[in-house]
Amino acid sequence: MSPPPATLSAVPGHQDPIPVMRIDVRDEAQFAHEQEAVHALARRGAFTLGDEVQAFEHEFAAFCGSAHAVGVSSGTEALVLALRALDIGPGDEVIVPANSFIATAEAVSLVGATPALIDVDEDTAVMTPEGVAAAIGPRTRAVIPVHLCGATADVAGIVALTRRHDVAVIEDACQAHGARCGDRAAGTVGDLGCFSFYPTKNLGAWGDAGAVVTDDAALAARVQRLRSHGEAPGSRHHHDVVGTTARLDAVQAAVLRVRLRRLAVVTAERRRLGARLRGMVAGGPVRLPAAIGPGGDHVYHLFVVRCDARDDLREHLATHGVATAVHYPTPIHRTPAYGDLGLGEGSLPVVERLARRICTLPLWPGMGDPELERIAAGVASFTPVSRV
Ligand SMILES: *Cc1c(COP(=O)(O)O)cnc(C)c1O
Repeated sequence: MSPPPATLSAVPGHQDPIPVMRIDVRDEAQFAHEQEAVHALARRGAFTLGDEVQAFEHEFAAFCGSAHAVGVSSGTEALVLALRALDIGPGDEVIVPANSFIATAEAVSLVGATPALIDVDEDTAVMTPEGVAAAIGPRTRAVIPVHLCGATADVAGIVALTRRHDVAVIEDACQAHGARCGDRAAGTVGDLGCFSFYPTKNLGAWGDAGAVVTDDAALAARVQRLRSHGEAPGSRHHHDVVGTTARLDAVQAAVLRVRLRRLAVVTAERRRLGARLRGMVAGGPVRLPAAIGPGGDHVYHLFVVRCDARDDLREHLATHGVATAVHYPTPIHRTPAYGDLGLGEGSLPVVERLARRICTLPLWPGMGDPELERIAAGVASFTPVSRV
């Protein structure tokens, strides 16, 4: 079967199909502030590190309720530098869920360690303390729980388990800015938390950007050195360790500072839209995102439903002017990039089953009732056709 169209151009009767996400819906006053902040910076010629990056780091740490934040060049680099700060490298294993964006596993490979890809819980689609317990071995040095689509994983449960072993916890919070894990923010429960500010993320920059948060001053200092050639902040030509170039751009920091002021409002809007869409498509032909357990949260980075006839559903929605996507169509262990792990078809059955059934519906801050109604009507009018 040919895959359904990823984008819609000429759907009869709908010249404006609803995209899965939009990053061009803007508040003009905020956009003017972003431009002013970037202009001021360009005039000063202050393009790397400096006040702007530091100010964003303080503000983002405060937003997360974490002692330190270190601005880096992407979410992938945030994960790489968190692993390097813990001295994880060749010979080490890091437990990673097989249903994440590939960057979670790539970061482990980039430091020379081996990702131990594990299956997830069928209801929540995230890793569980039990799944981690079964995978911990003599070479395990860290676990990376992923707060997938904005739904939190039980990091506290995973931390309680790994404390008994000498295993660190690095949260991949790249899809969960502002989500709550009990009384803490996602990213601040483990030893280190990693964020991406890629433009489509819940807090997005004007390009690539990321951050590492931690309460541990020594780890924060290590990430600071590693991101900039082993130099401590403010010290030039003094290289303590072999680092890299993975600093947060000051231009991105300036934009992120303006956008961070509205992140709580944007997150509330995502929660509201997620709850409304849940209510509107409930009882229909699709299964809804898992209800969140006690202490958990969902900030709806992506609104993912499940359907046995997923590809038919996507075609049906396309003809109703509703674009859809699949995050992610191939589990990490089934990608050619990780073929050498030797994890064949059926080795991680839950993740594989999910990959065949999941479908991302549109959800973006600024979406109105007409869009919600068209999505809900499209889903409600879908009747799976049984095929021989
Ligand atoms: C986006 C993302 C990353 C990587 O972030 P980049 O900024 O694109 O490098 C890592 N993990 C998850 C779960 C992500 O969604």
